[in-house]
Amino acid sequence: MENWFLTKQIDENTFVISEPKHWEETNCYLLIGSGKALLIDTGLGISDISAEVRKITDKPIIAVPTHVHWDHIGGLRNFPEFCVHELETDWIDGNFPLSNEFVRKMIVKDNNLTHVINVDNYAVFQGKPSGILKDEDIIDLGNRKIRVFHTPGHSPGHMCFFEEETGYLFTGDLIYKGTLFANYESTDPEKYLESVQKIAKLYVKRIFPAHHSLDISIEMISEVLESITAIKEKGKLCHGSGKFDFKNWSILL
Ligand SMILES: [Zn+2]
Ligand SMILES: [Zn+2]
Repeated sequence: MENWFLTKQIDENTFVISEPKHWEETNCYLLIGSGKALLIDTGLGISDISAEVRKITDKPIIAVPTHVHWDHIGGLRNFPEFCVHELETDWIDGNFPLSNEFVRKMIVKDNNLTHVINVDNYAVFQGKPSGILKDEDIIDLGNRKIRVFHTPGHSPGHMCFFEEETGYLFTGDLIYKGTLFANYESTDPEKYLESVQKIAKLYVKRIFPAHHSLDISIEMISEVLESITAIKEKGKLCHGSGKFDFKNWSILL
């Protein structure tokens, strides 16, 4: 599909490929190393992200979703080499816990996409990963090394990716400006907080979220940490507590 993606260059070898026309405004990141390139998240799969990636690099690509939700795994079908976290191998390989019907409703939501796509044909990507990742693994791109941090809470096998050399932290759905989701059955609010505590210890210079605005400061990590800690202290860090609003973001429990 023409002009579905918006690509921006972050530095010489790092790019963001976004889906600004969809309400989720997913951001995928392409990190090019001397040997390989890493694509963090792949969008909805409505348009072929691999064609977009090929305009930028001809290096072999390893595609890694931060977690197995439809808006992150949609483009995997065009990447023979892709990895997921060990706790979500089931979700990618035949046992995604939500029906396609439910996901179609989520995709359309309140913005009218029917002129762009026929959502009736949309199906959550399913396939066999070529590799499995776990906490502290290193994704080696040659001259760039990306560390995996298992950060469950939004989903059981959610991962953040950290490049120590640049201080780049790719936060997936753990931290972004907008509504953070820790309300559905497969989420875990307590683990969500533990994951924020974990990444708050890193020496981060820039954060790159999987959704919405890229204009996001590193202070947001401590802000989210303090706010969720305060929710816990009130005894409200559990499913059913509802929505808590802060300056640039909310969390749904
Ligand atoms: Zn998600
Ligand atoms: Zn998402």
